[in-house]
Amino acid sequence: MIDPEVLEELEGWDDADDDDDDDDEAGIDYDGRTVSDAVGSVGSVGQGSAERGALVLVGTPIGNLGDLSPRAVDVLSTADVIYCEDTRHSRKLLTHAGISGVRLRSLHQHNEVDRIDEVIASVARGRTVAVVSDAGMPGISDPGSRVVAAVAAAGLTISVIPGPSAGLAALVASGLPTERFCFEGFLPRSGKERRSRLTTVAEESRTTVLYEAPGRLAATLADLARECGDDREIAVARELTKLHEEIWRGTVAGAASRASSMPVRGEVVIVLAGAPEVEMDDVADGPLIEALEVRLAAGERTRGAVDEVAAEFGIARRRVYDLALAARNDDPTPGVPPGGTR
Ligand code: SAM
Repeated sequence: MIDPEVLEELEGWDDADDDDDDDDEAGIDYDGRTVSDAVGSVGSVGQGSAERGALVLVGTPIGNLGDLSPRAVDVLSTADVIYCEDTRHSRKLLTHAGISGVRLRSLHQHNEVDRIDEVIASVARGRTVAVVSDAGMPGISDPGSRVVAAVAAAGLTISVIPGPSAGLAALVASGLPTERFCFEGFLPRSGKERRSRLTTVAEESRTTVLYEAPGRLAATLADLARECGDDREIAVARELTKLHEEIWRGTVAGAASRASSMPVRGEVVIVLAGAPEVEMDDVADGPLIEALEVRLAAGERTRGAVDEVAAEFGIARRRVYDLALAARNDDPTPGVPPGGTR
């Protein structure tokens, strides 16, 4: 059931000419429903369904205000309320588009879950509720997806006004394969989770799109070079759609060296070529174990030896790591003590 406190708060938003305050909200029971419960409930705004409420996700520019679409302006200027990350930031965009008088409510990563009830109540009462983020598509490394899931689970209408997204813009301009790609967003900043995600990214055969803060670009590129090998192709897209737009293409090692040699300014997207697809059967275990043993006997740590052998043979690091573990268990002599941590 919709929280009565939320409904009460909503009363304060209503336009003077609202005539549906007595809608039977009690009939809208979304508690405990999941997205799949709502399968079959479809709807659309912009298609003449004005009498029904809708949650509308609206893409906004990633730098160039000229990228705000006419449809986005239309929906934002007629929405009953716009949820946005930073009301001051979004007010500037609206002012640029000549939109005034639309109510703004904050929706950011720290209050998204708390906002769900009021968004659902509002849509259920026939309101058009727009959601924008500071830039690009809401829900893409930005708040929005949890509200969307809840509104979908409630069986209510969701629509989207597509707009720019930094990841897609960088991907299509990268020159790397676009037929199959995956979006990784921001990597965890440190620790085991970061290491494990880096390994997964390095082994991914599809082109991977990553977001990164400028101050962390050099460190992330160095980590990628270590995991993927120096020669993997990469593109670093900076300040897309803005005055200083730049798309650098080359190898991971080249990108890492460039990023570490000068301060990186502005926003960046990393587009990493996929790992070469090598049939597992193409390389037998023998040469891999041999290459591992040579390195371990020379005193290299297991992690380094695995990285090097995986890069040299162009095969998944996971497979080499498993062989290293098996060798360690079978034979304690080649430089690795049983259960040891080399
Ligand atoms: N929702 C946004 C989208 O659809 O692209 C992404 C928001 S995320 C919080 C911000 C990140 O997107 C930045 O750290 C950067 O990696 C990337 N980004 C945003 N605008 C960009 C631009 N103009 N050029 C390059 N990267 C950009």
